[in-house]
Amino acid sequence: MNNNLQSTTSLYNGVKMPRFGLGVFKVEEGPELVHAVKFAIKHGYRSIDTAAIYGNEEGVGQAIQEAMTEYGIKRDELFITSKVWNSDLGYESTIAAYETSLGKLGLDYLDLYLIHWPVEGKYKDAWRALETLYKEGKVKAIGVSNFQVHHLEDVMKDAEIKPMVNQVEYHPRLTQQEVKTFCDNNGIQFEAWSPLMQGQLFDNTVLQELANKYNKTVAQVILRWDLQNGVITIPKSTKEQRIIENSNLFDFELTKDDMIQINNLNQNHRVGPDPDNIDF
Ligand code: NAD
Repeated sequence: MNNNLQSTTSLYNGVKMPRFGLGVFKVEEGPELVHAVKFAIKHGYRSIDTAAIYGNEEGVGQAIQEAMTEYGIKRDELFITSKVWNSDLGYESTIAAYETSLGKLGLDYLDLYLIHWPVEGKYKDAWRALETLYKEGKVKAIGVSNFQVHHLEDVMKDAEIKPMVNQVEYHPRLTQQEVKTFCDNNGIQFEAWSPLMQGQLFDNTVLQELANKYNKTVAQVILRWDLQNGVITIPKSTKEQRIIENSNLFDFELTKDDMIQINNLNQNHRVGPDPDNIDF
């Protein structure tokens, strides 16, 4: 595993995706958002994960433009992800939603576009739209989010192009073995959202002991566990100190036993919605 903040993994279509990035869920438009994204890029982050529903694509776009100008970073060094929201799922509406997101971000392509949630009866038409966008060269990679194995099988049954990424809730209390194994076996890159369980794991004694052992923080131990499991991770923070802390993962390595100890914390416990029971 190449060992730095900008190391990438190849999606099955050859596109290189950073193994680590910044999430911006629940960060409202405004100076805090712009500062966080710019600071992360300045510090070496290359991947930013947003979504139409986060309502902050314009601020993310502003930060990207300013970072490129001020720090001399080129567009093709960055990896920008957004997601189509549930109310826009459909063939024409998904294509229109993509154009809207691009406009707000001020970009002429995205690196990755995802179906945010597997709304029954809607996600297949949306997938055809993502295939069109991909075939027309408007987006570098396409994927899904919150898809269970049965959703993936259903979409792949009729798909011309299988998803390149599945972004799901994943942390030591929710290790998602079934869907992770399916993704690994099918060449679909697995990506973690809420990798820090939205801050609910910091008092866990197993993680604290491992943090002490390596002179690292609990956040760093969890994020390192993601990377060693081959999982792309996008922790969210707007604080400079934490943006730096979360990216300092490349100077230590968890042993096999450490990895097993963390895997064993699994309780199939979600902090977010269950994809099989969504009502939004
Ligand atoms: P997270 O697990 O990244 O936790 C974020 C929380 O932890 C924040 O409150 C932050 O202040 C705190 N934190 C971050 N670093 C810390 C540190 N080093 N020490 C102490 N506290 C720290 O939660 P998240 O934001 O829900 O998930 C990350 C990203 O995943 C989101 O920002 C978003 O981009 C994506 N996401 C996607 C979906 C989806 O449905 N696809 C859903 C939720 C989140």
